[in-house]
Amino acid sequence: MLSQDSQIVIVGGGVFGLSTALWLARSGHRNITIFDRCAFDQSFYDPHNGCDGASADINKVFRMAYGKQQCYQDLAIEARAIWLSWNKNIEESTSSQLPSGLEPDDKLLHECGNYFLAEGPELCDFYKESLDLMEKTAPDVRKTQFLKGNALDEEKLRKIDPKWACVYARFLCEQLGVKFVLGQPQGVFSSFVYENANREKKIIGIKTADGQRHAADLVIVAGNVIRPSEKR
Ligand SMILES: Cc1cc2nc3c(=O)[nH]c(=O)nc-3n(C[C@H](O)[C@H](O)[C@H](O)COP(=O)(O)OP(=O)(O)OC[C@H]3O[C@@H](n4cnc5c(N)ncnc54)[C@H](O)[C@@H]3O)c2cc1C
Repeated sequence: MLSQDSQIVIVGGGVFGLSTALWLARSGHRNITIFDRCAFDQSFYDPHNGCDGASADINKVFRMAYGKQQCYQDLAIEARAIWLSWNKNIEESTSSQLPSGLEPDDKLLHECGNYFLAEGPELCDFYKESLDLMEKTAPDVRKTQFLKGNALDEEKLRKIDPKWACVYARFLCEQLGVKFVLGQPQGVFSSFVYENANREKKIIGIKTADGQRHAADLVIVAGNVIRPSEKR
């Protein structure tokens, strides 16, 4: 049985690990540590700075349309209210009350609407022609379009100043006392630590790549965790 002082280890500081920590901390748990192999406190979830988890991205599409699966739709509607409240909190903060990389006029969720496109292996003629025409007739608009594989476009994309939602979520976690062990080797999960009780194997902590053992009453693995010996 867990108490509010139980030692909780979360492996993975992506969006699932952060959100798990945030909600556990908000429900009163006081002893939570997130381990991640990426030094997010220095790299700010920037994929151009070595962050290769799924949560580290220039942007994410937020959608509320899930066909007949109402549970996902309801979750998204609930999440939307939280995103908008984070926008409002940021807007009402001063620069010094925000983590590095965020300013009061930044928004984490831009409600710009959804544009649904058909998926295909190649850019279809229609879009190739659209980009060509734009290049010739509306170059300023073309600058806002990015084509994968086009070196100029990819260079422009790198210069965009993105805002990392995980930076804010990590900041909220820290404010609630969540601890972080980040970077290599100290943040790299290498194995579970087991105890054999009544012929049953029980996880009682984790070992990190620096050889340290971290005891835990509960270990949560959040995301696609790679063992140091595995290749990506
Ligand atoms: C290309 C792409 C585009 C996507 N687009 C969207 C989108 O538009 N909208 C949307 O809602 N979802 C999107 N998704 C899905 C979404 O990004 C993922 O569901 C979500 O980010 C998963 O978060 P996570 O925390 O579970 O995993 P991750 O973000 O991968 O976090 C796992 C963490 O574990 C860490 N880790 C791994 N191994 C170890 C180890 N041995 N020790 C310590 N730490 C370790 C990693 O560094 C990483 O930070 C996209 C995913 C991808 C890949």
